[in-house]
Amino acid sequence: MRVLILGAGPAGLTAARTLRELAPSRLLDPAITMVSAESFPPYSPPAMADHFLTGREETLYWQGKDVCDRLRVDYRCGAPVEAVYPEQRQVLLQDARYLDYDRLVIATGSRLHAPLQGYDLPGVYNFKSLAAALGLVEHVRKGDIKNALVVGAGFIGVEVAVLLQALGCAVTIIDKQWVMPNILDEETAELVRHDLECRGIVVHQHTEALRFTGRRRASGVKLANGEKLVADACIAATGVKPNVSFLEDSGLDIGWGVRVDNRMRTNLPSIWAAGDVAETFDRMSGERYVHAIWPNATSQGEVVGRDMLGFSADYEGAEKMNSMKHLGLPMMAVGESSGEETLRRRDGDTLRKIFLDEGRIVGFRLVGDIRGAGTYRALMLKRTDVGQFGEDLLDPRFRISRCVSPEVLHH
Ligand SMILES: Cc1cc2nc3c(=O)[nH]c(=O)nc-3n(C[C@H](O)[C@H](O)[C@H](O)COP(=O)(O)OP(=O)(O)OC[C@H]3O[C@@H](n4cnc5c(N)ncnc54)[C@H](O)[C@@H]3O)c2cc1C
Repeated sequence: MRVLILGAGPAGLTAARTLRELAPSRLLDPAITMVSAESFPPYSPPAMADHFLTGREETLYWQGKDVCDRLRVDYRCGAPVEAVYPEQRQVLLQDARYLDYDRLVIATGSRLHAPLQGYDLPGVYNFKSLAAALGLVEHVRKGDIKNALVVGAGFIGVEVAVLLQALGCAVTIIDKQWVMPNILDEETAELVRHDLECRGIVVHQHTEALRFTGRRRASGVKLANGEKLVADACIAATGVKPNVSFLEDSGLDIGWGVRVDNRMRTNLPSIWAAGDVAETFDRMSGERYVHAIWPNATSQGEVVGRDMLGFSADYEGAEKMNSMKHLGLPMMAVGESSGEETLRRRDGDTLRKIFLDEGRIVGFRLVGDIRGAGTYRALMLKRTDVGQFGEDLLDPRFRISRCVSPEVLHH
C-alpha cells in the first residue's frame, strides 16, 4: 500500500505516525511518502514565537528533526503540489514530477487570508509559516525594522505583536473589532488589551484598515477613517484560509475547505483530508466548519490513520478552544462567547465567564485564573444540565462530581 500525505504539519505527521504505529497489527507495512511545500523538518507553528525568543528547537521540531527517518517516511520537502489527479491516482509536483499513490491524505493546512489591497507588496510580512516568520525576524534582528504595524488582532496577530515587542520593536496592532474577536467577547478582550498595553504595545480597536500603502514597498496602512499609519514593516494577520487552490479541478467537494465525513473521508475514494484544510463539523452544534487549531489537526490526523487501516475511527467533531501562552496572564477560551445566560465573576485582573443555553454550558472564558477549565469543558461536552448550580459554577474549585455520577464519569 502506497500512502501519499500532502503536508507535514501536525495533521499530516499525526496521520503518518498513526499509520506506522497501527499497521503492524494489520500485518501491513505501508510505503509512506510525505510532501511539504516548505524546506524544513516537520515543525509546530505555535512554537515559532518561543523559538525566536529562546532559540529552543525541541518544541519547534515537536517530534524531533529526525522524525521522518524514525517513522520510515520518505519525506520530500520543498516540493509544492500543483495538482491532484484522482482517476490516475497521481499527484503533480511543481517541478513537473508525478507521484503515484494508492491512498492519499490532503493535509496542506491553511495560509494567510488577506482581503486587503496591497497585501502582496514587499514590506508586508506574515507569520503563517516558518519561512515567512524567519523573513520577518531576520529583518528585525538586522535592525531594518524598528517599528511594526500588525493588522489583525486575532491570536496570530497578538502572538506576533508580543514577539516583535520582545525583540525590541515599537509595535502597533489594529483590529476592526477588538482583540481576538473570534475567540473573546469584548469584556474578556479588554483584559488582554490591557496586558498588551502594559508591555508598551499600542492597540487600536474598532479601527478598520482599508489597504496597505506604498508604491514599490509597503509603508503603512490607510484606515477607513481616512487616517494613515506608517511603519517600517506591516504584518498581515487578517485570518487564514485552507490551502485548496491546487485542488480546483480534482473533483473534490470543496466549500471553505475540503469537505469530509466523520471519518475524514472526502467525496472521492481513497482520499482523506485532515487539519486546517478540512471542513469538518463542530462538535457541539454539528455545523460544518473549519476550526483551524492544533488539537483538531492532530485528532483528525489520527482518525485518518485509523480509518485507513480499518480501525474504528468516528470523529467526534472539531472544538473551538484557545489558550494564550505568551501573555502575562493565563487565558482560556472554549466554545461559544455568548449564550442565553452569562455567569460572570470579576476580581481585579481575574475574570470568569460561563455561557449557558437552556441550563447547559455552551462556552466559557477564563482570564487570570484558569482553574476549572477541564471541569467546564467536560460538562459542556457531556451537555450536562448545570442550571441548578447557578453562581456556584464560578467557583474555581467546582467539582464535576457534584453533577455527574461516578459511573458516568468513568464511562
Ligand atoms: C503563529 C501561529 C500560532 C499558532 N498558535 C496556536 C495555538 O496556540 N494553539 C492552537 O491550537 N493552534 C495554533 N495555531 C494553529 C495551528 O498551528 C494549526 O491549526 C495547525 O498547524 C494546523 O495543522 P495542519 O497540519 O492542518 O497544517 P499546517 O501546520 O499549516 O501544515 C500544512 C503543511 O502543508 C504544506 N503545504 C501547504 N501547501 C502545500 C502544497 N501545495 N504542496 C505541498 N505541501 C503543502 C505546508 O508546507 C505544511 O507542511 C497557530 C498557528 C500559527 C501560524
